[in-house]
Amino acid sequence: MKGRIALVTGAGRGIGAAIAEKLAESGAKVAINYNSSKEAAFALLEKMRTRGFEVIAVKADVAEPSQVEAMFEKIEKTWGGVNILVNNAGVGLKKLITDTAVEEWDRVININLKGAFLCSRRALPGMISRRYGRIINIASVWGITGASCESVYAASKGGLIAFTKSLAREAGYSGITVNAIAPGPVQTEMLDSELDREEIAELINDIPAGRLGRAADIAEACLYLASDKAEFINGQVMVVDGGWISV
Ligand code: NAP
Repeated sequence: MKGRIALVTGAGRGIGAAIAEKLAESGAKVAINYNSSKEAAFALLEKMRTRGFEVIAVKADVAEPSQVEAMFEKIEKTWGGVNILVNNAGVGLKKLITDTAVEEWDRVININLKGAFLCSRRALPGMISRRYGRIINIASVWGITGASCESVYAASKGGLIAFTKSLAREAGYSGITVNAIAPGPVQTEMLDSELDREEIAELINDIPAGRLGRAADIAEACLYLASDKAEFINGQVMVVDGGWISV
């Protein structure tokens, strides 16, 4: 990863923070994008700098084109063009579809799907001209199986998977790979806000690995897909769920 420049969206906390650290550990320069979690993002920045990593923090709402543009400009001025883009920023929504407002649909789709579109569109020209790039989209098993009371979230992740496969076809001829990771339940604030202790215990019962996912599990998969070892893997969805939906 030495010399690579990575951008991880939504990296101030949760899965994104683990991915940012993992990529930096392997030698990449890492831009930590955050939106509302400024304190957490700067705490992570300090922690990573103390470990000797090259890292910057950049605020941007990934659903806002002008903020995405400004974020890329800042990274380019600091280091140069982004080689590795991890579209991780995402929000959940647990509601009956009949209770879901249009504004809630827009928010989830705009962050989870439009955000990946805006960042990928901005990153790709540089990747194409350098004939190297890695785009990794953090989807969800819900994007494959669907999920009752999470249809908007599942639609955003299903859309992200179709986006991944399409972009892989489009950009693959330019030395770029585009893959998705579909995590099962991972212990983060997102999961804590959606499930109570009883629901989590039931969930663990259904996972052959006997535990919830950890952010580090997703980060390891991401590092592999970002590495040169995965150069022949393109357009894939790697399910990381301890065997939950897979076995
Ligand atoms: P989390 O702890 O709730 O973190 C969500 C991240 O997304 C935060 O860093 C947040 O940044 C960022 N974000 C939200 N809106 C944003 C926006 N408009 N612009 C930029 N960043 C934004 O969730 P997580 O569990 O780490 O989830 C990370 C990804 O994994 C998401 O895409 C999620 O759908 C996916 N995933 C999670 C699970 C799970 O069980 N946890 C399972 C499958 C897939 P700020 O706090 O700075 O706003």
